[in-house]
Amino acid sequence: MEANKRRVYLDHAATTYVKPQVLEAMTPYFTEYFGNASSNHTYGHEAHAGMEKAREQVRKAINAQLPQEICFTGGGSESDNMVLKGIAEAYAKKGNHIITTAIEHHAILHSCEWLEKNRGCEVTYLPVDAEGRVTPEQVEAAIKPNTILVSVMFANNEIGTLEPIREIGEVCHKHGVLFHTDAVQAVGAVPVDVQAMNIDLLSMSAHKFYGPKGVGVLYIKKGVRMPSLIHGGAQERGRRAGTDNVPGMVGLGAAIELAVKNMPESAKRIAALRDKLMKGILERVPECRVNGSLTDRLPNNLNICFRYIESESILLGLDLEGIACSSGSACNSGSLDPSHVLLAIGLTHEQANGALRLTLGDGTTEEDIDYVLEKLPPVIERLRRMSPLYVA
Ligand SMILES: *Cc1c(COP(=O)(O)O)cnc(C)c1O
Repeated sequence: MEANKRRVYLDHAATTYVKPQVLEAMTPYFTEYFGNASSNHTYGHEAHAGMEKAREQVRKAINAQLPQEICFTGGGSESDNMVLKGIAEAYAKKGNHIITTAIEHHAILHSCEWLEKNRGCEVTYLPVDAEGRVTPEQVEAAIKPNTILVSVMFANNEIGTLEPIREIGEVCHKHGVLFHTDAVQAVGAVPVDVQAMNIDLLSMSAHKFYGPKGVGVLYIKKGVRMPSLIHGGAQERGRRAGTDNVPGMVGLGAAIELAVKNMPESAKRIAALRDKLMKGILERVPECRVNGSLTDRLPNNLNICFRYIESESILLGLDLEGIACSSGSACNSGSLDPSHVLLAIGLTHEQANGALRLTLGDGTTEEDIDYVLEKLPPVIERLRRMSPLYVA
């Protein structure tokens, strides 16, 4: 092992580190204010106060009307499962039709498939355009009398494309259909306002915005029925039983407040670094293409396909240089199937197999980008020279 080799983390869409201010806010809730938030004594009251402060921080960050609309969960996947299975159950008398898109996270897609198989639901998977966008017109055309829910992600986790959320929400409300958005990649990165954007249900996850893993939120607008999927105690207004993860909630609250406060400055800085990285790669490496929208896009996301080679080999080559990124979503890594998102935007299997996702974060520096621009081109060139598909 070389000593002091540079390490560059460009996989913030998979997870982020916990910021020191966030950890500092959490620490006393492990050691000092460790009480069970449901207990009726001072220890319990202290823990309860921390939890309620966090709930208010979340309410404010997404402009929800009431703190009780914020339901803490065990993360993004749990929020997505809860919303689909919960709404399917609570609104079964109204209908059984759900509309979503072909490019959702697997927490949405696999829940939908489960509902089709086990609960007699009918699901429409809307196709997307070449940049990964779905239109409000497509959503409107798919709504039927038995439609109970539309679920469209705020920002795609692989290609970073932002969906027209406010307009889709407007269409849903015009037809009296509930609107959910998986905003796990968006919260903390771009402005989210549940009231102005016509959102009834929203999923988020702390570890995607510099908070701890294993804690998330489902925003449930007042009046929306949501049954409990975890039965037991009365936590979270009976919607999710189990002793409250107070340190996690406190961390989520501190992280979302910090992210929203830093957002204008941070988004600008990160987007500038991302654009430098994109331009630098395109200048240095022939035969590659950028995926997703160049305008309606998360500030930190770059997804590029390199022809003739496999992303898994690129990842390995970069990891040897200390650079961490991804071939798509972390959930797809390990499977050899090409990304469902890249196929949905019209890429061939060959193109999709050479995709690299580089996602920047608050810790990313100009030196990190220069280092990647120095190390990436020779890795690509070496792999291409070994590729039977490549004729230089
Ligand atoms: C990461 C992610 C999830 C899953 O969140 P977890 O907290 O890891 O369960 C869901 N949706 C999207 C878009 C994500 O990026």
